[in-house]
Amino acid sequence: MQIGSGFDLHRIRPTRRGFLLAAGVKIPAPYRVLAHSDGDFIFHAVSDALASSLGTNDIGHFFPPGKPETKAMNSAVILKHYLRALIGQGAQILSVSVVVAAQKPKLAAHCPRIRSALSEALAIPLHRVGLTMKTFEAVKPLASNCVACWATCLVEEGRPRMRRRQK
Ligand code: MG
Repeated sequence: MQIGSGFDLHRIRPTRRGFLLAAGVKIPAPYRVLAHSDGDFIFHAVSDALASSLGTNDIGHFFPPGKPETKAMNSAVILKHYLRALIGQGAQILSVSVVVAAQKPKLAAHCPRIRSALSEALAIPLHRVGLTMKTFEAVKPLASNCVACWATCLVEEGRPRMRRRQK
């Protein structure tokens, strides 16, 4: 078994009709998330956790920020990249545990929907996905400036798929 951990943080900018993306779920917020991609911090942290458990490069390596091809990128594509790598290694996810920190809006009410979306995106049962919603305890430099996410995953290693030998 291999454990992997990932972290992601994005700055936020106040705006009246903003939103955040959490595992593909769009949640109205009094700010927008500053990001080169779509800013889905859960998918980013989980992808990095998977990368870490697989011993492969992180998301910044495969999907470098600042490049035209990653601009406004759907982060589900990033996650799928690592899910394919996982399948390629014959590995499977045993469980994923995620902690989100955002001051506003209160995310607890959205927790079931986000957890379900993450379970679906990872193709693992709901009971194998842990999701905890935290605030920054109104610590101003954090609370008014960013959202953050920590992710841990447990992966069972398998046999890599063998390529057929060329005759
Ligand atoms: Mg990110």
